[in-house]
Amino acid sequence: MSTALISVVVTGACGKVGRHIARGIAGEEDLQLVAAVDRKRVGQDAGSIVGIAPLGIAVTDDLAAAIDSAKPQVMVDFTTPDAVKDNVRTALKKRVACVVGTTGLTPADLAELGALCREHATPALVAPNFAIGAVLMMEFAAQAAKHFGAAEIIELHHDQKLDAPSGTALRTAEMMRHVEGTLLGEEPQKRDEAAPRGQAVGRIRIHAIRLPGLVAHQEVIFGGLGQTLTIRHDSISRDSFVPGVLLAIRKVLSLEGLTYGLEQIL
Ligand code: NAP
Repeated sequence: MSTALISVVVTGACGKVGRHIARGIAGEEDLQLVAAVDRKRVGQDAGSIVGIAPLGIAVTDDLAAAIDSAKPQVMVDFTTPDAVKDNVRTALKKRVACVVGTTGLTPADLAELGALCREHATPALVAPNFAIGAVLMMEFAAQAAKHFGAAEIIELHHDQKLDAPSGTALRTAEMMRHVEGTLLGEEPQKRDEAAPRGQAVGRIRIHAIRLPGLVAHQEVIFGGLGQTLTIRHDSISRDSFVPGVLLAIRKVLSLEGLTYGLEQIL
């Protein structure tokens, strides 16, 4: 029995994460990489760039034209905070479902994309972290928020990362604040320290570290009477994002509107 192919365009295909995603898609029998879009290495073969045999797909910087000629069903975007919205707008207008890993989207951006999904009757899934272990770390942190009245988050990333704090850290804090029975749901404490101490999300402070050598890491530290609890996740390779993205590609076409967070489809 032959499996129906899902055709995919990757935007940001020559980037640090996009290369791993493009290679991952090319290795799957039920998925087909049909186009690769990036601002750099235009005209070069996508397979050679991501470290596999040539695929006969030349990298292009024109997403709209790539969609018109290759007719993908799904776009996967790992670009930059200033490029992602235009890419998603272009894809949704052409009825191409979106899987978005690019971080830095604000709640207002997400609301706008949700409206576009409805307008064009085309689904999108946005996740600040596609590593399954990171999603579990967020869920465990939300669980622990029911038992501890104080917590801070330290997120650590490579020094090329453009946004801070990370989308994962912001999402973790929101999950900790909104889980039923949380002890961390109230507004920021009134006392304001003279020296900055990270970004406050409600009562939770987030500290962002940027250093060469790091990939993507996060610690959620809870403090209670005579004890602390630390929950930590480490992406030690960008391959950690591939299985979650492949799952999202396979599921997104059956979703409706905008879905936020990989945990929604696990
Ligand atoms: P990166 O290495 O800078 O890759 C981004 C690529 O997109 C670059 O090649 C960039 O080209 C290209 N690009 C920029 N604008 C474009 C446009 N309009 N059209 C097509 N390509 C464009 O960054 P990265 O480390 O791969 O990260 C990409 C994004 O994914 C970031 O927002 C990061 O925070 C996020 N991320 C998400 C997850 C997750 O699990 N959700 C995991 C890791 C990273 P130039 O270099 O010429 O600008």
